[in-house]
Amino acid sequence: MSDKKGYGLATLCVQAGWNPKKGEPRVLPIVQSTTFRYETSEQMARLFDLADSGYFYTRLQNPTNDAVAAKITALEGGVAGMLTSSGQAANFYAVLNLCEAGDHIISSSAIYGGTYNLFSVTMKKMGIECTFVDPDASEEELAAAFRPNTKVLFGETISNPGVQVLDIEKFAKVAHEHGVPLIVDNTFATPVNCRPFEWGADIVTHSTTKYMDGHATSVGGAIIDSGNFDWEKHAERYPGLTQPDESYHGLAYSKAFGKGAFITKATAQLMRDLGSIPSPHNAFLLNLGVETLHLRVPRHCENAQKVAEWLELHPKVSWVHYPGLKNDKYHALAEKYLPNGSCGVIAFGLKGTREDAIEAIDKLKFIAIVTHVADARSCVLHPASHTHRQLTDEQLREAGIPVELVRLSVGIEDASDIIADLEQALA
Ligand SMILES: *Cc1c(COP(=O)(O)O)cnc(C)c1O
Repeated sequence: MSDKKGYGLATLCVQAGWNPKKGEPRVLPIVQSTTFRYETSEQMARLFDLADSGYFYTRLQNPTNDAVAAKITALEGGVAGMLTSSGQAANFYAVLNLCEAGDHIISSSAIYGGTYNLFSVTMKKMGIECTFVDPDASEEELAAAFRPNTKVLFGETISNPGVQVLDIEKFAKVAHEHGVPLIVDNTFATPVNCRPFEWGADIVTHSTTKYMDGHATSVGGAIIDSGNFDWEKHAERYPGLTQPDESYHGLAYSKAFGKGAFITKATAQLMRDLGSIPSPHNAFLLNLGVETLHLRVPRHCENAQKVAEWLELHPKVSWVHYPGLKNDKYHALAEKYLPNGSCGVIAFGLKGTREDAIEAIDKLKFIAIVTHVADARSCVLHPASHTHRQLTDEQLREAGIPVELVRLSVGIEDASDIIADLEQALA
């Protein structure tokens, strides 16, 4: 999977993953086939025993999907990766691959609302309990959250929608002191701005729906393994990876697949049984997006920096959260982990009431009201009126989403036009 080793990020964005041989299509083909033919019954049987690797059913593996997974794996500097049908599926599988009923996980509380729900409601019903910790917790406070049955520590490089920056090194250190891997959702930073493995994260997840696709065409996700976590050393904590799997004739993933154990198990077990695969066509569109990721991300950051600096000085704006701003609470962490830029998403507060915020948003012209972030087109969302509209003003404040919060996703249009649109809406 780690093809094109030694190449720079731009080359990997364009070239990694698909390596055509003589007479094969130059562009990654869409293998729109559920199934694959074999010549003997024995050949097929060996695939089902995981004795041979090969394609046999797209729910398990597909050549288009695998090529795109290999590209993202190369970008993150991992050893193995897989695509999923959504970012939600990626985070669910990454955690479930290490946990079962009766286990415990720890997550930063500054994470995407969907992931928060997954951990606090749905996985709880499955018997997996989550403790949420402040992203700014000290090492001692983090350590205090661990229990004997803790299997995962989780956080987002840059949180959605709060744009808080995770101290990845600190989280990794405490996780490893407890013999537990750190999973980092790297959706907002993308490997162009941060590669969490370089700071000690063990597994990275993505909602590829955002910058990776970049054009708002395809919901998708990815899981990448660094190959660095030693499952055998913590064999008793991770029996699913180290003990025989009865559904594959007693094969033990860590022994049979070494550094490929985590992704092989997630594919052979979770994808087999739960089936959240992307369509090959969506993977093809994702690949087109990633081919220009290294060009688009810097432009998003450059535009967002200008917009954030402009918003900061606007008399109707009460506060702006953007890690690129010098007086932002997370600026120092951003300088360490995101020296080339953070992302295109800005959270800001408008002075006045809920109605004032709604009025301003409704006046925007090309900055569209959509439930999305991180694509080429600038867009805006008012959580108090949209995603969190069932909450009272008081409940919103408690959830860290005050009524005045506006989430602005800065696109790759002309920064001057984006500012002009905001200017007329706020006038
Ligand atoms: C959007 C998002 C998700 C969920 O991804 P979907 O592709 O919408 O399922 C997870 N994590 C982060 C940080 C996100 O922004």
